[in-house]
Amino acid sequence: MQSTVTPTHCPYCALQCGMNLTPAPDGTVEVSERVDFPVNRGALCGKGRTAAAVLAPGVRLTSPLVRDAGGTLVPASWDEALDRIATGLDRTRAEYGPDALGVFGGGGLTNEKAYTLGKFARVVLGTSQIDYNGRFCMSSAAAAGIKAFGLDRGLPFPLEDIPKSGCVILVGSNLAETMPPALRFFTELRENGGTLIVIDPRRTKTAEQADLHLAPRPGTDLALALGLLHLVIAEGMVDEEYVRERTAGWEDARAAAMAHWPEYVERITGVSVPQLRETVRLFCEPESAMVLTARGPEQQSKGTDTVGAWINLCLATGRAGRPLSGYGCLTGQGNGQGGREHGQKADQLPGYRKLDDPAARAHVAEVWGVDPDSLPGPGRSAYELLDALGTDIRSLLLMASNPVVSAPRAAHIEERIRSLDFLAVCDVVLSETAALADVVLPVTQWAEETGTTTNLEGRVLLRRRAVTPPDGIRSDLEVLHELAARLGVEKGFPTDPEEVFEELRRASAGGAADYSGITYRRLAEEDGVFWPCPAAVEAADAGEDAVGGGEAPAVHPGTGEDARPGAEAPAVHPGTPRLFLDRFATPDGRARFVPVSHRAIAEEPDDEYPVLLTTGRVVAQYQSGAQTRRVAELNAAAPGPFVELHPRLAARLGAAEGDPVAVVSRRGRAVAPARITDAIRPDTVFMPFHWPGEGRANTLTNPALDPTSRMPEFKACAVRLETVEA
Ligand code: SF4
Repeated sequence: MQSTVTPTHCPYCALQCGMNLTPAPDGTVEVSERVDFPVNRGALCGKGRTAAAVLAPGVRLTSPLVRDAGGTLVPASWDEALDRIATGLDRTRAEYGPDALGVFGGGGLTNEKAYTLGKFARVVLGTSQIDYNGRFCMSSAAAAGIKAFGLDRGLPFPLEDIPKSGCVILVGSNLAETMPPALRFFTELRENGGTLIVIDPRRTKTAEQADLHLAPRPGTDLALALGLLHLVIAEGMVDEEYVRERTAGWEDARAAAMAHWPEYVERITGVSVPQLRETVRLFCEPESAMVLTARGPEQQSKGTDTVGAWINLCLATGRAGRPLSGYGCLTGQGNGQGGREHGQKADQLPGYRKLDDPAARAHVAEVWGVDPDSLPGPGRSAYELLDALGTDIRSLLLMASNPVVSAPRAAHIEERIRSLDFLAVCDVVLSETAALADVVLPVTQWAEETGTTTNLEGRVLLRRRAVTPPDGIRSDLEVLHELAARLGVEKGFPTDPEEVFEELRRASAGGAADYSGITYRRLAEEDGVFWPCPAAVEAADAGEDAVGGGEAPAVHPGTGEDARPGAEAPAVHPGTPRLFLDRFATPDGRARFVPVSHRAIAEEPDDEYPVLLTTGRVVAQYQSGAQTRRVAELNAAAPGPFVELHPRLAARLGAAEGDPVAVVSRRGRAVAPARITDAIRPDTVFMPFHWPGEGRANTLTNPALDPTSRMPEFKACAVRLETVEA
């Protein structure tokens, strides 16, 4: 084991906090603060501080596992395990065709892995059936951003702009628990005289920091945004000049908003008209203001329209593309941003290109050295793919995801996974999904490998290898290389992350998410570079080949900069921390209003299921908990699920604090102890979703999909409560 201090980044959320790792002689690894990284300036939450615990051999997998004749997972050699996977996939393909093969990735994979996984699915397996768990994260915000701005980058400005803004509306984000070090940006906002408005059905730790907290009924954020826009129009606060100069489609959006009278919106949302008026005043008065959304408004069956309504508010008030202002999405997973840019999404190719765009296919096919016509078309979205397991999709290769816990209608998805002909899982630990596999491969993790991630600001970062993995572990890139070779593709799947990144640069050149000007050397020296960062200028100036094969556009769609070789520009593109200041990434440079109207959630409460369920996270656990539930300190802080409910609801049910409560939806039943608090609406219960078993919240959630983003409705469904004998 090396003994030096290595600066790197946290394995968990999209903040990608900087940290130092120091291996100790006893084999443990010390995590310490790294104050020079501007996002967290040394601060780490409990998950980051304890992240090294998952590196220990007793916690993580150290040998491939294969299922024996008796149905038990037993240790096996790498050759046996890889041969079994290749045979399983090949057999399915021969019997049912390539689209009977599914591939499911994750927002925690590095850019290099996400890129290689997408290429593996399309080039080696020839399947269209690939998607990833990021579909369950920010896909509605991504879809809305592309509609309105022509480009999706979570935050189009750095986090450091937040404290300098005049007002921030935070919609459906409990960042005090999901990414605690980010809270300081909002604390500083208030210290600087700015206003923080938090919109959440619960009075969360984040809401407690706010100047104004609005607690709408779950699933009504769309109506809320429309009501605010109605008031902006009625009170003459539209920025007419901005709307005229920088947008299109205002009249239809205006008409839609005018149909949402404040009193009507109050009835839908439960937010009073005076609160709506106060919100508009606080948002419109300062020179600069932002709206930031997270999973609350996005994880709905109308998530794209809901985010679109908040973007409309930003456009009407002249906020988007102005300094210290605009709309942004707080992406959740560690590489949630990069994970959606490089081709593991069902409808996309690297560089955030559309899979059904002939020019995009031709560009990427050239980089990959294949015929564009050989590339399959778009496949199913994440839930639809999981729902097709065992029927249309007979075999699945899964990396870095745990859908048995994290997918909506999870008991049904677990059943679908069990019905597969063949399942192979690459993971660090034996997750609930890996435990169902025919073959499990133990792979290297964050501190044991080099690779890049892209944080929620669009800042591309270099994670460095700090420790040597235990014997018996291989990287996901090695796994894909070995499988490709066994399936007849000997070249094109390098195992060196930097070599993969060099190819990714070429594949992304000229695309929306252009990484072609970013190198490992730059990432190491500059501690991160914001995309888009085209290379054409650099290459021309350096007299090099312009990032092989990729013809860069004359003007980058996001920045409006002249990207042609030889153009007047710095020798090396500096990256783009702030987008849209001059133009949006649409063909005419104008943002698009999208006319949207209120509609109900897919499953409204009724006599049988009279209460609303919403789900979310707690500070000491991360996503499906596969890693964090294995860390003693985190488990002590958050040992299990709970049902948060209002005292009035608890009294009606006859439940006291800690009593087991059954939450029943049309999809199943979950049981967890009652946590009684007046911090939640009386018509709503909350459950965190980190745990499997009896308290699995996603047993209950509704897979009704957004028609555009294909996002399931995690955030609101109808349930009833029952008491349970202790
Ligand atoms: Fe890691 Fe996110 Fe915690 Fe930072 S906030 S230490 S990135 S989990």
